[in-house]
Amino acid sequence: MENLPEDRPITCRDTTWLVSAARDGELDEAGHAALQKHIADCPFCREASQQFTDLFRSLDLLLGNDRPK
Ligand SMILES: [Zn+2]
Repeated sequence: MENLPEDRPITCRDTTWLVSAARDGELDEAGHAALQKHIADCPFCREASQQFTDLFRSLDLLLGNDRPK
């Protein structure tokens, strides 16, 4: 996966795949930092990422898929 450019803040659109990548363990430290920074400043993405996390957890339960993070 390509690294995020460090000279631009991530957008709300980026958050979607960043949360997904983070969940799959594909996000590097800079990506995590950028995601957390955006979430700290953006109530919408904070809510959205929480719902993503809950949704994925529900899917794992439904599918019996409890692979480690
Ligand atoms: Zn946002």
